[in-house]
Amino acid sequence: MQLADLPAGAIHRFLYPPNIPILLARGREPGRTLVVTAGVHGDEYEGMRAIYDLFEGLNAGDLKGNVVAVPVLHVAAYGAGTRCSPLDGANLARVFPGKPDGSPTEVLAWHFEREILPLADAYIDLHSAGTSFVMPPLAGYDASDTASLRLAEAFGAPVLWGHPVIAPGRTVSAAKARGIPWIYTEMRGAGRVHPDDLAFLRRGLRNALRYLGILPGELELVPVAHHLFGDGNVDASITTANRGFLITDLEPLDEVSQGQLLGRLVDLTGNLIERFHAPVSGVIALVHAKPLVDSGEPLFLITQRKS
Ligand SMILES: [Zn+2]
Repeated sequence: MQLADLPAGAIHRFLYPPNIPILLARGREPGRTLVVTAGVHGDEYEGMRAIYDLFEGLNAGDLKGNVVAVPVLHVAAYGAGTRCSPLDGANLARVFPGKPDGSPTEVLAWHFEREILPLADAYIDLHSAGTSFVMPPLAGYDASDTASLRLAEAFGAPVLWGHPVIAPGRTVSAAKARGIPWIYTEMRGAGRVHPDDLAFLRRGLRNALRYLGILPGELELVPVAHHLFGDGNVDASITTANRGFLITDLEPLDEVSQGQLLGRLVDLTGNLIERFHAPVSGVIALVHAKPLVDSGEPLFLITQRKS
């Protein structure tokens, strides 16, 4: 995609091949470009809503630079209401940089990575806990990149989470490979848009645009209540090989100590199938919120506080 092909001082809404909905505000004056995505997972709705809302309030004539927003990157998963693709079962956040002749999800990653992501001077990927999990509203950043930390601080999140290692296959690992500073967000999830999360995202996106000089005005910062540090790889969560009903009282940001009982899985008559204990002390970053659990699903993710 070439930004120069689009008239300046205007907002453009269109579908880009293979099937990528784009909201693009091209400022009247040149400046930096923020690329923002939501719907990498099809059941994470907060970021989609925040992008629609952002564009209702944007006046391209006020902008110095550009905003390229994809409210729903994985349209097939969105249509199915699922985290992964109904076409090939793939998780879009595990296949980057994609393949030109691969499965539908790999082809989608390939087009986004080559044609849209390179427009970015900064990249924000809006995630949430989706329909199965619950997470605290947070901004996650690359702990090896000061530009990523600064962007997370400017976004204005009550919870920051620095990651020393970025697993491959993510949108953000693709951004890192291109040298583009990035952050991502998580929200409560539960298949809805919580008003507090929407307020957080609206403020954060406008803060990011101000920080990049695209939008005029001062940052609206909030105190950082929790600064977490550690691997954010959901695939490394405590999981189960069984199917059953999960009983837990844990919430995101709860402190747990090594060996503590986190929860248990029971069968239809309430008989114990399995107990889950904390392998390390730390802070709960993710809990499986939906009581029905399938084998292989992440149940609990424990991280650490930044020292
Ligand atoms: Zn996600």
